[in-house]
Amino acid sequence: MNYPDNILHQVIKPARYTGGEWNSIVKDWGKTPIKVALSYPDLYEVGMSNMALPILYELLNRQPDVLAERVFAPWVDMAEIMRAKGIPLFSLESKHPLKDFDVIGFSLGYELTYTNVLNMLDLAQIPVRASDRDDSHPIVIAGGGGALNPEPMSDFIDFFVIGDGEEVLLEVVNSLRDWKRQGKGAPKEELFRRVAAIPGIYVPSLYQVAYQDGGLFKSIAPTVTEASPTIQRRIVPKLPPPVTKPVVPYIEVIHDRGAIEIQRGCSHGCRFCQAGNIYRPVRERPQEEVLQAAGELIANCGYNELSLVSLSTSDYTNIGKLISGLLHRYHNLSLSLPSLCIDSFSLELMGALPTGRKIGLTFAPEAGCRRLRQIINKDIDEDAFLEKVAAAFDRGWTGLKLYFMLGLPTETTEDVEGIIQLADKIDSLSRKAKGKRPQLRISLSTFVPKPHTPFQWVAQESEQQLTPKHELLKRGLRRKGIRLWWHDPKVSLLEAALSRGDRRLGEVIHRAWQLGSIFDGWSEHFNYENWLSAFDEAGLDPAFYAQRERSLDEPLPWAHIDAGITPAFLKREYQRAIKGGDKTPDCRYKDCTVCGLQRWQPACQQRYQQLNQSRR
Ligand code: SF4
Repeated sequence: MNYPDNILHQVIKPARYTGGEWNSIVKDWGKTPIKVALSYPDLYEVGMSNMALPILYELLNRQPDVLAERVFAPWVDMAEIMRAKGIPLFSLESKHPLKDFDVIGFSLGYELTYTNVLNMLDLAQIPVRASDRDDSHPIVIAGGGGALNPEPMSDFIDFFVIGDGEEVLLEVVNSLRDWKRQGKGAPKEELFRRVAAIPGIYVPSLYQVAYQDGGLFKSIAPTVTEASPTIQRRIVPKLPPPVTKPVVPYIEVIHDRGAIEIQRGCSHGCRFCQAGNIYRPVRERPQEEVLQAAGELIANCGYNELSLVSLSTSDYTNIGKLISGLLHRYHNLSLSLPSLCIDSFSLELMGALPTGRKIGLTFAPEAGCRRLRQIINKDIDEDAFLEKVAAAFDRGWTGLKLYFMLGLPTETTEDVEGIIQLADKIDSLSRKAKGKRPQLRISLSTFVPKPHTPFQWVAQESEQQLTPKHELLKRGLRRKGIRLWWHDPKVSLLEAALSRGDRRLGEVIHRAWQLGSIFDGWSEHFNYENWLSAFDEAGLDPAFYAQRERSLDEPLPWAHIDAGITPAFLKREYQRAIKGGDKTPDCRYKDCTVCGLQRWQPACQQRYQQLNQSRR
């Protein structure tokens, strides 16, 4: 055991590395044959707020012959000391070096954590490139939203888990168990071929990539019979039981409260939104299960605040009833609803929310004008929205945060001015509010075209195009009570390049990391020059990936990943958008819109059959 007690006094927040938290699981290392390190490529405080990590931690530790331990990206102070003293990156539970585990599993939620994956492997004293690792090294796997375009990280990852991990991970463990039984001599290649046959697993080394003469991506094809030409996203038909005994951090983390996933997936069909496309279909957790889980979470963790997690919490059927049920059953409980949809958020729901902490409501209109909201398929009823805002202010809410996106397809100056006009309307409502004047905060992000969305072909706007829009908004919103915050367009450019990249970007990520890029998502660490040099040295241009419009027939580097939604549906949605924004209805309340999941999702197959019957 290599417990680095003697260095903890030299770093800020030593509790990031000590482990031993309430509910953490420490199994007998010597008696548990399969060892998995669940690795989150960001700080402890960020990773401990992630929803997937506790699910996988519990799922794996429930297997008698498997132990799962956690590891997070050490902050720069800790990483420096570990390197200087030759201390390999270790897990929080048993403090074993990562190189002693069988599997290291990374969660890829955000493109700007990719260099941290390399840094963690290097700190673990494991070669970062999969091709430099031999049979003595752990198997490095990855999952999460980023895995839906795995190509940029394919040089570093042995295999990717595409989609919901709950079922497929146990199938991987079965293969690993069989492979390990063969003893030390069994080559990894044998395991890779075996897992390649599991639906939802992508082993990049078993595929050959080709490029066209002009540098465009051409194709990707399997080189062995076990690997399938397309990898279908795994979807659990029903949400597995919620985690009710998660590890409770000893230091403050981003979401410092209990969390219950009340539903997975979203059916609104916003055309820019990757999560809305890659987590379909909607699966709700039954109310009674949520009510019971809340009691167990409170008893097991001592939380008095719970977050009801979903991509769109207010869409949950009878959300008001669920909230009153929770507040009735558990006194002094405070609830947080992290993601509210403007249309489904009602005055009734507002009334059901706890009265103790009326601090802020958050909504995402995304665009300032109805025209553009129709293009993105988010046609909210603005008058009804303003009524709700007025009611919230009257009922004592002291803040409102609105998210907008700049650079959406077809955006004009009028659309940008629409953000100012909407802010003006809200500002005048806040002046009329009884009591303390509520604060309005506006957050502007840059539109990032993402794979598996109807806007995956669209060019991202350049900094030169975005700067005048930022200036216009700064001038128009400069007044008391409104706080404006916006994303650095350079960060958004990198996000777009990495998310729509091909396998050649592995070289760029590797070089950027060598040049010192880590924690790219943290503004104090983001080094744009490093990235430009890395692209340049690889003979590539970030604008080629981010700011180039792609034709609808251009082969896409992520086309071998079948996320469920078909290219035909995405093309249809893209064309509806650019032709003026015909609404595509929410399939939860209206007919199935035949997005592709009807091909193999049982609930969707049923809806599709109903649609066909009604058309007859
Ligand atoms: S297949 Fe139909 S019901 Fe299923 S998610 Fe797609 S549109 Fe909705």
